[in-house]
Amino acid sequence: CGIVAAVSTGDIVPLLVEGLKRLEYRGYDSCGVAVHQHGGLRRARSTARVAELEAGIAADGVAGGTGIAHTRWATHGAPAVHNAHPHFSHGAFQPEGADADTAATGRVALVHNGIIENHDELRAELQARGYRFVSQTDTEVIAHLVDHLYDGDLLEAVQAAVRRLHGAFAIAVFCRDEPHRVVGAREGSPLVLGLGRDARAGEHFLASDAMALAGVTDQIVYLEDGDVVDLQLGKHWITARPDPAQPASRFEPASRP
Ligand code: GLU
Repeated sequence: CGIVAAVSTGDIVPLLVEGLKRLEYRGYDSCGVAVHQHGGLRRARSTARVAELEAGIAADGVAGGTGIAHTRWATHGAPAVHNAHPHFSHGAFQPEGADADTAATGRVALVHNGIIENHDELRAELQARGYRFVSQTDTEVIAHLVDHLYDGDLLEAVQAAVRRLHGAFAIAVFCRDEPHRVVGAREGSPLVLGLGRDARAGEHFLASDAMALAGVTDQIVYLEDGDVVDLQLGKHWITARPDPAQPASRFEPASRP
């Protein structure tokens, strides 16, 4: 339903929570936030209001400069905490509890708006590779797929993953092994890039709706279907779907409306 994500040098969680509150009017059945913290993935999720999520975040000390947040409107899997986003990747080789909110062993954290139509086929393939599914969502296949395709470069992994997805999606992803990077992609669901005002902090943002970033930045880039966007501190890069009539990639799409 709603996505907010960011890379920053400071704690980004208050901004992510504020963004979720700005998206609350769209309706949702659960919400969650994940950050890169203490060298691993950390999250808080709730089936109550964003205000309750915020209380859980404060109680658990969830904080970090790289993070993703989501309000969910369930399409696959009941509205429940274990189906709430963000989802973490974890293989069968990882110990019990790897799906807990502090997943030192999980590698990829992901939020998703939309529907993945070929989730059954992808789930079977990833289960055969040893990935252990802990939710009933279509979304969880994307987290495991990105993990499976990851070979040290999150942008490449996401580009390869989205080629395997059929359906509509906007996603935001980060990886335990690249602490200051968030990669987003869209196909049929909205996603915008927000350029941070504070060059020193190097902040950049993603959101499903520019309204989520109101007061944070007014420099918004509307992404197009097929775009994959790489956010790092002080830099960003957008790659478009390969098109024989167009260059394969471009930097800083100043020509966007
Ligand atoms: N299909 C996903 C799910 O059910 C995402 C739903 C959404 O867009 O919020 O978890």
